[in-house]
Amino acid sequence: MASEAYEAVIGLEVHAHLQTAAKLFCGCATKFGASPNDNVCPVCIGMPGVLPVLNRRAVELAIRMGLAAHCEIAPFSIFARKSYFYPDLPKGYQISQYELPLCRGGYVELPGNGGAPRRIRLVRIHLEEDAGKNIHERDASLIDFNRSGVPLAEIVSEPDLRSAEEAVEYLNELRSLLVYVGASDGKLEEGAFRCDCNVSIRPRGSSELGVKTEIKNLNSFRFVEKAINYEIKRQIEILEAGGRIPQETHLFDPEREVTRPMRSKEFANDYRYFPEPDLPPLCVSPAMIEELRATMPELPAERRARYASELGLGDYEVGILTREREVADYFEAMIPALKNPKSAANWVMTEVLRIVNESGKSIDEAAPPATESAALLRMVEETKLSLNAAKTAFAAMVKSRKSAAATIEELGLIQISDESAIASACEAVLAAEPDKVAEYRGGRDKLFGFFVGQVMKAMGGKANPRVINEVLRKKLAG
Ligand code: ADP
Ligand code: ZN
Ligand code: MG
Repeated sequence: MASEAYEAVIGLEVHAHLQTAAKLFCGCATKFGASPNDNVCPVCIGMPGVLPVLNRRAVELAIRMGLAAHCEIAPFSIFARKSYFYPDLPKGYQISQYELPLCRGGYVELPGNGGAPRRIRLVRIHLEEDAGKNIHERDASLIDFNRSGVPLAEIVSEPDLRSAEEAVEYLNELRSLLVYVGASDGKLEEGAFRCDCNVSIRPRGSSELGVKTEIKNLNSFRFVEKAINYEIKRQIEILEAGGRIPQETHLFDPEREVTRPMRSKEFANDYRYFPEPDLPPLCVSPAMIEELRATMPELPAERRARYASELGLGDYEVGILTREREVADYFEAMIPALKNPKSAANWVMTEVLRIVNESGKSIDEAAPPATESAALLRMVEETKLSLNAAKTAFAAMVKSRKSAAATIEELGLIQISDESAIASACEAVLAAEPDKVAEYRGGRDKLFGFFVGQVMKAMGGKANPRVINEVLRKKLAG
């Protein structure tokens, strides 16, 4: 999107809900979808005199994310009060981390898509609590505090991204990582993964940073892409017209697909940070870090490299198969039963992901077990089943939940490879078409396909096409 003369510079601040059962500083449930203000207590609605108690699980999950992103985990970090006034923040301050965050540095590796993988450096990952949610209804403004106090990891990148597309790629990778390590469910539609986009432009070739605009609280990757592209274009127009870019905070308007400055009092950026007096410093022992490191799963970048080198899969397939951990696990569970992992890759990318996407459910809920998918493909490899018949069986299994073997039996899908049965069908077809046989033998090679089709039709589509080919070639030659 940036023109020849300018380069875009983008840094993202992502807020991801950590998947704990209880909130960050109280015992209230975090479960999404409860009735408004069902999951609240004096702590998370900021009553006077209450004391926060840190949820250990949230710390563990944030550290897991830090390890996945190659961060340095701080043995000593502190919480801070970030003060601002807004109705969804009943205490008048948010408990966050400021000067000494839990995780520092690190990077996220983006797939190369044909080129070398690219590293996007992180500034930090810190823990903080979410605010409540304002709901505006006609003449009333209502507040739901269920989200107030839900643990968040804020993941701040260096300004290493250079286009809207790359920003979306980074978000995809970050979301994958969070889900792989079990830190978050990554559900954008539930507000569990939101981001602020910082965008500036500079003359191509320059190494100085331009003045940035911050676009707040985007909760869809499509909006991120649109908002950034809009912003780049807007800034280029200002510079081209000889103007200067003011440092501003914007909101994206999804209906009109434009960004607009927030009212000035909403970005009075004086948070008066100071250390939270009600919480002791957070001390993380080397033993705790090592314990967490020992339970880390294989990560997307490692899986991508392994699928490419060991299974010979291409970048595109590898990208799709590894993005969601459960999809990669499903794929891998199919491989041992099969000669060719590529057929499993194609199967997952077409049949399995189609029904997952259509249903909007998880792979375990939407698809038959991986072993049953593998059983179908194995029969295809053994030429007991045509690929089309396997697809038909799969579609039936999605609904019936029956096994591959039972489904094939029930639908009569077994492929006939028996040579004598196929030979007699071939003979019947050739006997019924003496003129065409003569034409074929006279040189009209194209008629071969016609004969194959006729035999297949006579056998109800169940014959093994390879055997038909062989038998017909012999008979037509003789
Ligand atoms: P602020 O003090 O305004 O919050 P920070 O330095 O903390 O700014 O950076 C916040 C985010 O903005 C980071 O993700 C960072 O990478 C990004 N950022 C900082 N400067 C720029 C810039 N000039 N252009 C684009 N992104 C930037
Ligand atoms: Zn509470
Ligand atoms: Mg900042």
